[in-house]
Amino acid sequence: MQEGATEPQTEFVIERLVSMGFTVHRSTGVRHTLLGGVGPQDDFDPLALEALDGVKECHRIVSPYKLASRSFKPGGTIVKIGEVEIGGSRVVSMAGPCSVESESQMEACASIVAGTGAQVIRGGAFKPRSSPYSFQGMGEEGLQIMRRAADRHGLLVVSEVMDQMQIPLLLQYADILQVGARNMQNFNLLRELGKARKPVLLKRGIAATIEELLLSAEYIMSGGNYEVILCERGIRTFETSTRNTMDIAAIPVLKRLSHLPVVADPSHGTGKREYVLPMARAAVAAGADGLLVEVHPDPDHAASDGAQTLRPEQFTQLMQQANAIAAAIGRTV
Ligand code: PEP
Ligand code: MN
Repeated sequence: MQEGATEPQTEFVIERLVSMGFTVHRSTGVRHTLLGGVGPQDDFDPLALEALDGVKECHRIVSPYKLASRSFKPGGTIVKIGEVEIGGSRVVSMAGPCSVESESQMEACASIVAGTGAQVIRGGAFKPRSSPYSFQGMGEEGLQIMRRAADRHGLLVVSEVMDQMQIPLLLQYADILQVGARNMQNFNLLRELGKARKPVLLKRGIAATIEELLLSAEYIMSGGNYEVILCERGIRTFETSTRNTMDIAAIPVLKRLSHLPVVADPSHGTGKREYVLPMARAAVAAGADGLLVEVHPDPDHAASDGAQTLRPEQFTQLMQQANAIAAAIGRTV
């Protein structure tokens, strides 16, 4: 809709779209209201809609994902949580341990994370482990511990939701709900998250194409939750030198195909501590809107993913270098 289009004009266009058989998704931006019509109609005339009062322009979105497509919101999406904006000019850093282990561990992590200017603390309370015998996470107690540590240091919380039944618990304690790589195509979970009204950080599946990632985002968005943050965390290839193959090219590709913010996870992307810093630098240079990094006060004794987890001083160095690269491309950290 045009800037300043009136509510009756917008309502009229919605009614017209509905009468044509479309499901309408409304997204109100700072300047413009966007109406996304998803439907079976392929013989409608966009010009007829453009002729309606208050309409700025009308485009047919040909990609299989509609709401996640860049053409739905050419200016890009900024996910705003309190003071933090993900997808804006600032590169947002999210860091913390792989798993929440104890009150003292999370207090140390929150102090490291906040001390470097990062804005979000991460930590899994429900862990998707390849082996059922590995540590599975602290559950609700872990979420409580992380929330308390985050609040003491003015940080937001991102944590993984593995199952629909955990959604209410995550909504209670976390600011961003993470969908892990193994759950990227858990369509029942994605649909339920579509009903939630909190941002979702959606990780790319270990063998998922970029199109599949965007279709998974579409599942969440088609339920009415438009606050999706995409995350490149490496994919499985024939290469064995790294845990996964960090697909840096996916960052500019996603930015081109979609309006959603893109975050990069060089920790899972490489699986080895020494490669996290160079890949974090590469991700910022490639245009990532944020970083998701594992850091722990004593990574060699971490309950999970210690090998890829940074020591505090390494994380400080990462933040300094990410900052320098962000500045070089006209952004801040
Ligand atoms: C994690 O963030 O700790 C995690 C399990 O990530 P992924 O789903 O990318 O493996
Ligand atoms: Mn991990």
